[in-house]
Amino acid sequence: MVTGMVLLDSNLANKDFTLKQFRADFPALNSNGVYLDSAATALKPQVMVDATVAYYARNTATAKRSLHHDALQVTAAIDKARQHVANLLHASNNTEIIWTRGATESINLIAQSYARCVLQPNDEIIVSELEHHSNLIPWLIVAKQTGAKVIKWSANIDELSSLISSRTKIVAITHMSNVTGFCPNLATISQIVHQYNAILVVDGAQGIVHHDIDVTTLDIDFYAFSAHKLYGPTGLGVLYGKQSLLEQMSVWHGGGKMLKSTSFDDFIQEDTPYKFEAGTPNIAGIIGFNATLDWLTNWDLKKAENYTEQLAHYTKSQLSKLSNLQFYSVENSPIITFNLNDIHHNDVAILLSEQNIAIRTGELCAQPLMNKLGCHGVIRLSLMPYNNKQDVDTFILALQNAIEILA
Ligand code: PLP
Repeated sequence: MVTGMVLLDSNLANKDFTLKQFRADFPALNSNGVYLDSAATALKPQVMVDATVAYYARNTATAKRSLHHDALQVTAAIDKARQHVANLLHASNNTEIIWTRGATESINLIAQSYARCVLQPNDEIIVSELEHHSNLIPWLIVAKQTGAKVIKWSANIDELSSLISSRTKIVAITHMSNVTGFCPNLATISQIVHQYNAILVVDGAQGIVHHDIDVTTLDIDFYAFSAHKLYGPTGLGVLYGKQSLLEQMSVWHGGGKMLKSTSFDDFIQEDTPYKFEAGTPNIAGIIGFNATLDWLTNWDLKKAENYTEQLAHYTKSQLSKLSNLQFYSVENSPIITFNLNDIHHNDVAILLSEQNIAIRTGELCAQPLMNKLGCHGVIRLSLMPYNNKQDVDTFILALQNAIEILA
């Protein structure tokens, strides 16, 4: 019997958020350190770890292949988890959800399976300057392959109206910047993009963690995210794509279980989403993520996010007391980025690490945005609903120590 993959669809009643109970679900919080690097990857709830261990320890089986009991259960669990993700994104059908290795692979899939087939020389892909390299490099690659052009966009709505034209085939934008925390107005952007019959690609790697998303109401064509930033396992991602687009796309990976029939002459591809999922999937990852998604339904996430916002406000007010500090992030964002004049960001990271504090420094895979901000890197701390005021106070004290040493 396969355990650890039971899907609880509707434990909607009695949702709440209390810091103490939420924190109790994260075994990593029992260590002495302070974890403020969740925008890089989130800590994992015990239920996710348990489900993953149960699969490896007791119920190992493949999916969509063997016919023994555990294998059938695994196959069913993967499609149930797919439905869970469809619900999370408000997709109209679970066939619009494709399992990938992460947000990066999801966007590369769009570039190679969709863009490469539709782009003609001199067509344009508008990409915002806020983007993580994962939502820029795949477009540069496909532009080289097709003769299309990548057009830089500040993410300002008025500027989009002046850049977009009948040449525009794709507009790519983040749901939430991993550097500034800025969330563009996706509803307005979507309207403009579709007036020109272009398609809208949204990188949800950070946004899905802190905000609701309704891909159907917002009329988003493709939405990508990684499980590991949403309390899930590494090596697993999601691509949402509109059914009509997925159906017209050809596959970019070939192998087992993505085809209906084949010979040495040709093959007939499976229906979507399976045609995009060649090879054995990340079964343990999907089962672990399913446990995460079940667990998430227990919490009042709006309340959790309000709490995180208040903590962000507190953090920023404490940081503001330090001199020679320049912020880059927007107000009340759980992502807080800054620099200290004349102090190198990586020196700060090392001294904080010596005091058991985990943060991220550097270019944050967003070199073009760093250039725009006029710096070569930043100090980033990122908050989640499992962080508390004590984490922030410990961080501020450690930062003051680091400044004393480095100034
Ligand atoms: N997009 C954004 C905004 C990110 O912050 C990240 C990761 O930091 C990615 C994409 C890439 O995610 P992954 O490396 O999990 O594919």
